[in-house]
Amino acid sequence: TDIDIYDSMKELEELAQAAGTKILGTTVQNKETYDAAYYIGKGKAEELAELAENMEADTIIFNEELSGVQIKNLEEITKAKVIDRTTLILDIFASRALSKEGKLQVELAQQKYRSARLIGLGSQLSRLGGGIGTRGPGEKKLEIDKRHIKQRIIDIQKELKEISKNRQTQRSSRAKSNLPLVALVGYTNSGKSTILNEIIKTHKDYDKEKEVYVQDMLFATLDVQLRKATLPSNSDYLITDTVGFVSQIPHDLIEAFKATLEEVKYADLLLHVVDLSNDKYKLQMDTTNKVLSEIGVDNKKVLYVFNKADKVNYEANISVNEPFIMISATKRYNIDKFYEMIEQMLSKSKKKVE
Ligand code: GDP
Repeated sequence: TDIDIYDSMKELEELAQAAGTKILGTTVQNKETYDAAYYIGKGKAEELAELAENMEADTIIFNEELSGVQIKNLEEITKAKVIDRTTLILDIFASRALSKEGKLQVELAQQKYRSARLIGLGSQLSRLGGGIGTRGPGEKKLEIDKRHIKQRIIDIQKELKEISKNRQTQRSSRAKSNLPLVALVGYTNSGKSTILNEIIKTHKDYDKEKEVYVQDMLFATLDVQLRKATLPSNSDYLITDTVGFVSQIPHDLIEAFKATLEEVKYADLLLHVVDLSNDKYKLQMDTTNKVLSEIGVDNKKVLYVFNKADKVNYEANISVNEPFIMISATKRYNIDKFYEMIEQMLSKSKKKVE
């Protein structure tokens, strides 16, 4: 339906902003079929070229995946840089990844996506400027041929294997610490970072300088960080934030997610944060649960945290079969009850020692 198109376009706008671009305008085409050469059809492509020229836009972002040939043709006709949705998402991940592993995983996904689109791009690659779609592996690597990309993919996979082995060792030393692990999951922008920032204040040695980065942007966090918090009964636990989920996550990134969400698999409790003020919140919950089941995290104890209650006047008809609580992280509504629920749910599950 049209509503879905506009929702999806709105999400694309947020993604583009997260990548640091300024949106000059948006346009939507109603068409039953895709054009092999231009995706949108040559007539519409010419219209788009005129629009881009009038707006002085240097980049055009498509809310779909494009083929190498389509990108080449669209760039020729519009004289602008053409980027598709997946490239945009990958670019955001590249700029947000902090750990070596996170960076490698994103590069792996980028290399795979690019190598599948090399056909038709040819010499085009060398004249692409900086900015979106070029971050991560860097311009130099874009110029090398498919064979070199293949080799790079093999190298990255080898390095990732090595890192994963080391992490195994780190994890078992943490298991010995015997602290329960709680993981925040949920759709992008639901308030996970804000909640984490509140929760860590409960820790005895809370240090303000360690506050995590909060931004009204997508993907404020990519890499897993473990923090300490204290329960009302005075015992400690570990808390971790996860990357925000969005709809239509590129397939190759699901693979990258598996490792960045590894900690979730070992969590004793998941806090599934939901933005109650978003009219699509049920869909967002389903999307998050689908990703969780895709990475093999199904049978976890879950506390649903319906956040931003202040934005719905503290009223909502919530129907889930799992334990839930309605809070406002920014107004601190129900926060103490929330901490008590975390304690209750953790006490029901004795920490498994690996
Ligand atoms: P994340 O992507 O899930 O980590 O979400 P963030 O924690 O970055 O929050 C996204 C935006 O929602 C930020 O602008 C927050 O200030 C805002 N936010 C978070 N919790 C609440 C809340 O309870 N009420 C309101 N009104 N805004 C909130």
